[in-house]
Amino acid sequence: METKAPRGTYDILPPDSAAWHYLERVLRTTAELYGYQEIRTPMFEHTELFERGVGSSSDIVSKEMYTFFDRSNRSLTLRPENTASCARAFIEHRVYSGMLPVKWYYVGPMFRYDRPQTGRFRQFNQFGVEVFGSRSPYLDAEVIILLVNILSNLGLIEYELHLNSVGCPDCRTVYREKLIAHITPAKDSLCEDCQQRYQVNPLRVLDCKKQACHQAIEGYPTLAANLCDNCQQHYSQVQKILGDNGVAFIHDDNLVRGLDYYTNTAFEIHIPGIGAQSAVGGGGRYDGLVEECGGPATPGVGFAMGLERLLLALNLLDIQKGEKPGLDVFVITASDEFEALSFKLVQDLRGAGMKVDKDHNGRGLKAQMKYADRLGAALAVIIGEDEVKNGQLTLRNMATGEQQGVAAVDTIQRIKEMLV
Ligand code: AMP
Repeated sequence: METKAPRGTYDILPPDSAAWHYLERVLRTTAELYGYQEIRTPMFEHTELFERGVGSSSDIVSKEMYTFFDRSNRSLTLRPENTASCARAFIEHRVYSGMLPVKWYYVGPMFRYDRPQTGRFRQFNQFGVEVFGSRSPYLDAEVIILLVNILSNLGLIEYELHLNSVGCPDCRTVYREKLIAHITPAKDSLCEDCQQRYQVNPLRVLDCKKQACHQAIEGYPTLAANLCDNCQQHYSQVQKILGDNGVAFIHDDNLVRGLDYYTNTAFEIHIPGIGAQSAVGGGGRYDGLVEECGGPATPGVGFAMGLERLLLALNLLDIQKGEKPGLDVFVITASDEFEALSFKLVQDLRGAGMKVDKDHNGRGLKAQMKYADRLGAALAVIIGEDEVKNGQLTLRNMATGEQQGVAAVDTIQRIKEMLV
């Protein structure tokens, strides 16, 4: 039997799971400060949703989806991202007929058949937000500020925010023709992928990672210089709001999203120190998405960020990730005779809201003390023969080694006082 987790997946064991709790707590509380509420969608959806909502020509859909047929021969896909599912839920539950905009956040696993490496997995976790129902540039700025705020709340202050505008279908149609005309004479110098896609999706050539493609199209017309008046104004407003709120950004002509339902703002955040996979989050406006997924025309804007990469950054920068798990109390039993008594005391202490445990493997007194220490207990309660005879227990401060007797009936109260 294969005893390893599948390639590109991994386990999170204690105490590392505490770092995940910490991270998720920061994400949730920061999003809630901005008025976002959680949405939870299924781990798998009909394949067609992603074909439409992410786009068949995207790498995600064409190369990276985990697609399978269920027993009724339906084509289903493990979600590779969550924006399309949010758009589906927005339509399915007719959220559009209520008060808009709606502001959602989500956190959970996504699945992509990607080539695993540092910071890249096949099952990975994203936190994201989606706002449906407003075109206001203040919301483009708000989601970006929220993302930056999350980083700073985590202590990650060294980042690069890249920003661009991809216009709207109107200005992009004209732009595409210009770009194809510029690329065509140089088409033979493009990589194989770009040679295939530049006619259908010339914008993809701009964000190709291959240096040769960049050289081949040098001097290309930029999106920013070809926006219509409305899109130009929207982009200027977003930049101004970010500036007014102290968020530094880099305008990046190569940052594009090649599909028609993406509009206006596109952004990406990098933490340069974390290696080749330095993008921790990205997003933008998608005013055509809800309609593409079969709903009424509704604007939207959002982002997604990768939790593994955030934790990688926290680790590399040696940033403290929340408190150690630890125990409040460890109950030590001097003899088997008192097992039932100690078990009952453990239960009573837990009932009083304390984190408590005891030995279950017949360890001797000394070994139990060591065990208590290893588990990070603040206090130990010792149940010994003399103690039981006299109706007393011993309390030990594990940090200082100080011990004191306490009447059994007062134990819980005394422990509570000592723990504050
Ligand atoms: P995307 O949905 O591709 O825009 O990705 C948004 C963010 O999710 C990226 O900036 C990464 O931080 C993270 N991410 C995307 N793909 C992976 C992956 N295969 N493994 C780990 N993190 C990922």
